[in-house]
Order: sequence, then structure tokens, then C-alpha cells
Amino acid sequence: MPTQTGDGDPRPVILRAENVSVSYQSASGSRVDAVREVSLDIREGEFVSIIGPSGCGKSTLLRAFGGLTRTSGGSVLLQGDPVTRPKPDKIGFVFQDYTLFPWRSVLANTVMGLQFRGVDRREREATARRYLELVGLDWCADSFPAELSGGMQQRVAIARALTTDPAVLLMDEPFGALDEQTRTLLGGELAGIVEKTGKTVLLVTHSLAEAVFLSDRILVMSARPGCIKEIVQVPAERPRTEEFLTSALFDEIRAKVFASLIEEVHRQAQANEESRRAAQRG
Ligand code: ADP
Repeated sequence: MPTQTGDGDPRPVILRAENVSVSYQSASGSRVDAVREVSLDIREGEFVSIIGPSGCGKSTLLRAFGGLTRTSGGSVLLQGDPVTRPKPDKIGFVFQDYTLFPWRSVLANTVMGLQFRGVDRREREATARRYLELVGLDWCADSFPAELSGGMQQRVAIARALTTDPAVLLMDEPFGALDEQTRTLLGGELAGIVEKTGKTVLLVTHSLAEAVFLSDRILVMSARPGCIKEIVQVPAERPRTEEFLTSALFDEIRAKVFASLIEEVHRQAQANEESRRAAQRG
């Protein structure tokens, strides 16, 4: 399968997947083919979203990009170097579940990446405070996670991921546990943060609106084993304003992604039903 890139984009490729496949061995001993032959180039400064039916392999692909899951075939390259294990200096993660340590203050949570790197206390705290300011939370550096709303906790997780200045930020449903209004607000804030830092972002999301609002490109994945079914470009300047959310272009792209996605959702549901019947037959 050819590598798929943005047409004529002059920006250098930062992250590349070459024929990446991932299979798991299930507890019952059967093989689950989660991702099949994904080839993709992500360019510096791009914001790319991955959308697809539940269970189609989105998280698996993201984890393979981050070196958290072994590929069974193909390879992932970051700035030309193979990614075979996590690279905390270069690849930042933000997951859905609030991954803050409840017994550490906001500041103590935010400094953790730098602490592991051995950065001295004064410098790591100054850096952490800078990123907390960027996400609008410098005022609660001494609070504890339980005192923060879900949205605030995810902003701390984003600040923490940024402190080590990673080359790419991988986000897996970071706003998945939040209500829709908070999610919309945080999407806007994320757009601003990405604009200020110039980060390259790969985001797994279930939200069509989030994907269209934030992305340069949206990858629609097929039913499992997930491969890239379609890449939808979002031809609007970033950062986008809230007016974009009510524009005709927004509706048009959202409808296009939805049409592509819903076919795969039905295919996945049918495949799940067939597997269930086969398991019942024993
Ligand atoms: P998505 O993120 O699209 O919901 P996942 O990547 O989480 O999908 O999962 C893809 C498929 O791989 C699913 O069938 C899931 O059950 C299976 N899977 C995911 N992780 C593992 C694992 N560690 N062991 C076995 N199967 C797994």
C-alpha cells in the first residue's frame, strides 16, 4: 500500500507508519487482527484525527505509533528512527482516564516527566508552571486532583505531556469522559495550545465535531482489522473560531466523515454478530 500524505505539503514528515499491522493473542488463544497494513505520513505541525467504529483498532494504532504496542508487521518511524518502545522524551501521551496521581499536587504531577529526566527542582518547577499557565491553571498549582473538575484534570495532563517538549503528542479520547459542553470548550482550548506550541498531534476521538474542528486531516478507519478507509481533508485555516462550528463547510465535512464512518459501524456490528454466533456454535 502506498504511503499516504497530504498533497504537495512542504512540511517534513515527522511520523511515518509503513505497512503497520498489529495482531493480539486473545485469552482463549485465538488471534485478533486489530490493525492491518496501515501506511501513513504525518507532517510536522499537522493535527490528524483517527475516527472509526468501536473496536476497529484506533487505540492499537495510536499505541503502535507511540511504541506502547508491538507491531506484528511493518514499522513506525519517528524522525526517521524506528519506534519499538516508548520514547518519553519525544512522544507525549494524553489518555482518556485522568492519569494524575491523587496524592501529588497539580505542580507535583506536572513536573513528573522532567523529574524522571533528572532535571533539577527549580528548573522543572519553573517549566511546569509555564505549561500550567499555558493551559490556564497556574493558579491551582498547589491544589490536588480531587479538587479539580474532570476538564481541569485533563488540562493538567496536557500540561504534563508538554513539559518535555515532545516532537509529537498522541491523544486517546482525552475528552471522552467529559460532558459535551466541557468537551467543546476544551477542544477550543486545545486548538489554542496547539497553535501556541506548534505541536504535531495525533488524536483518537469518537466525536465527529471534535475531529472536524481540530484537524487538518481525518483518518476514517475501516471495521476490524482496521485499515485506513479514507482520508478526509479539512480545508480551513487553523486555529478555527467558534463560527466554524456553524459553517456550511463544517457541516459538509462532518456529513462526509459520517457517511464513511457509518458504513464501517454497520460492517463492524455485523462482524461482531457473526463472531458471537460462531462462538455459540462452539
Ligand atoms: P478501538 O480503539 O478502535 O476501540 P482497540 O484498538 O482498543 O479498538 O481494539 C481493537 C481490537 O483489539 C479489539 O477487538 C480489542 O478487543 C482487541 N484488543 C485490544 N487490546 C488487546 C489486548 N491487549 N489483547 C487482546 N486483544 C486486544
